Amino acid sequence: PSLEYEQLRRKIEMQAREISYFTTDQLNKISEKLSDQDKENWKNVILRFTDQNRVLLASIRNLTVVDGYQLWREHEHESLSKLMQARLNVLQNPSKSCQDVKRVTCNINKGCGYGCEIHHAMHCFHIAYALGRPMILFSDGWRYNPGGFDQVFQPLSRNCTKASATSASSWGNYDTADVVEIPLIDNIYPRKDFMPMAIPEDISERLIRLHGNPFVWFTGQLIKYFLRPQEWLSEFIEKKYHSINFQTPIVGIHVRRTDKVGSEAAFHDISEYMKHVEDYYIIYQYQNPNLKFTKRVFLATDEPSVFSDARSKYPDYIFYGDRAIAQSAQLHTRYGTESLKGVLLDVHFLSLCDYLVCTFSSQICRVAYEVMQQRVVDGAWRVQPLDDVYYFGGQNAHNQRAIISHKAIWPNEFSFDRGDIIGTEGNHWDGFSKGSDKTNGQSGLYPTYKTEEIVNIAKMYTYSEVRV
Ligand code: GDP
Repeated sequence: PSLEYEQLRRKIEMQAREISYFTTDQLNKISEKLSDQDKENWKNVILRFTDQNRVLLASIRNLTVVDGYQLWREHEHESLSKLMQARLNVLQNPSKSCQDVKRVTCNINKGCGYGCEIHHAMHCFHIAYALGRPMILFSDGWRYNPGGFDQVFQPLSRNCTKASATSASSWGNYDTADVVEIPLIDNIYPRKDFMPMAIPEDISERLIRLHGNPFVWFTGQLIKYFLRPQEWLSEFIEKKYHSINFQTPIVGIHVRRTDKVGSEAAFHDISEYMKHVEDYYIIYQYQNPNLKFTKRVFLATDEPSVFSDARSKYPDYIFYGDRAIAQSAQLHTRYGTESLKGVLLDVHFLSLCDYLVCTFSSQICRVAYEVMQQRVVDGAWRVQPLDDVYYFGGQNAHNQRAIISHKAIWPNEFSFDRGDIIGTEGNHWDGFSKGSDKTNGQSGLYPTYKTEEIVNIAKMYTYSEVRV
């Protein structure tokens, strides 16, 4: 398929969603002002609109089923993944003695949650990839497994071990020093254009054609290498997979509560998640009119009571997920190897779902979404976030480009010209996003449908020694 075709196809899905966010929100606002009698009639207007929009989305999602390019997509996905894994393998296992190559070090112990620490390590690994320097990981006393990372996951290297990580220099000397310690992403100076959410220039055209969010795919590949399970972990996960009888279609929801609510995220009732799950399944049925299926949900949460809440309110669904894991995921029991096993299972099963509904403010959901991209082909659309748009904590500016000029008419909106660069701060899922126009200096709300994502492309090490 041409690049233009793939981009247009994704754009149509995005536009159909944006029109639904906007119109549903506006129709509901009108409803609030109506008398009870009129409200009843108006409800039918809303239902009709919602249903027509689902039919439209079903048609759009079936495009890849009938356009004849799906085999190509699958091959390209496989082939790029092979290339990435081969590059990472060469990166991490230099043919020379490790003492003779320039390398970086990273300490997984950021002192935060599992998702947060994995993302911290991915920021390091991203830089290691970009510089072509193998990464040596420190993980002694890791709060999720005090015996260290290597007891759970395969060592990152055969020959670059802690012994070759002495006398690390600070980040300022990253292009000259033999060993460089990578600081936290929040305080790394100087910042570089190759840092997240950049993708490598040499494969950028292929990545952009392959995937609706190439950076997420790229990070998914870094995670794929980084989190190669030890044999006991593979067996543990496999056993669980069979014992719960994991089947598709299935939608994953991640309900993050406890310490997150009120401090870093708002409370979201189970109904907010299930509304989108319901939508997914109705669309799925429209896509496959003759298919009979059970509506399954994989539920991951750090709040045990969500299970009974969900099961009692949605009896026509089968909920997978483990209340005992949720128990061990609560703030006071969160760390240690037992709790780690729980979070590994939850992230794994979320990543195996067809679609995710979650809060991207949580790193657990972002990791699950990244890992999901290792398996699904062009799956950027397979999520409905309830709060933030996808981001990588500490990322360089997240910019969009105006593709249609706009004259402000709504309160708090700003005007812009086609071609303006807009730094985006988030989608409100009601047709509007928030951000600031870097071309004309204005900020506020803007209609999301008039913009497109700008992919950050940066020069990175090109791994010419790798042939696949
Ligand atoms: P964030 O705080 O939600 O952005 O994600 P972090 O991963 O950084 O920290 C939250 C921690 O809470 C996780 O690492 C887990 O230990 C625990 N947790 C949160 N949600 C879940 C869940 O759905 N399942 C499990 N097993 N643990 C969770």
